Amino acid sequence: MPIPRAIYPGSFDPITYGHIDIVRRAKKIFSRLVIAIVANPNKEPLFSIAERVRITEEALAEVGICGIEVISYDGLLIDCAKAIGAAAVVRGLRAGSDFDYEFQLALTNRDLDSDIETVLLMTAGRYSFLSSSIVKEVKRYGGDVSSFVPKSVEEALTRKFAG
Ligand code: ADP
Repeated sequence: MPIPRAIYPGSFDPITYGHIDIVRRAKKIFSRLVIAIVANPNKEPLFSIAERVRITEEALAEVGICGIEVISYDGLLIDCAKAIGAAAVVRGLRAGSDFDYEFQLALTNRDLDSDIETVLLMTAGRYSFLSSSIVKEVKRYGGDVSSFVPKSVEEALTRKFAG
């Protein structure tokens, strides 16, 4: 049986160790994993789409993960998934509060294309309360985010809040 390709979509504003934990888990299952960063997320992003792609690539290189393509997309996730030949959409689950939204998203995507399955991967316990929003909040007020994001991401945040 062929091992499918998968797409891991999100805002990645910016990528955290929580996202990276999901990438490591997904890499064990899928032959090819593409991170697809949504250009225009619901919330106004801190970083531009070009910055988020670059920061994600740098973070993956820094933690020694290779072979992951990082792309940006606009419009429907399912159209992007089809365009790259993905058989599965990977999403991460933290605390139970993620579940309702992820379930709704998965069922909507299944309605749009029943051939593409959503795979929800459980994060490591220590990242279960970590989000990009928390990292931005802590860093904005000068807190230490070194246990939440790789150094290259921390530096990008420092530059962003300095400018
Ligand atoms: P979105 O705006 O699409 O939710 P995010 O970048 O916030 O984009 O999240 C992308 C995916 O990564 C989501 O499935 C989210 O649940 C997951 N994710 C984010 N942070 C973590 C974490 N700490 N542990 C596991 N999964 C996470």
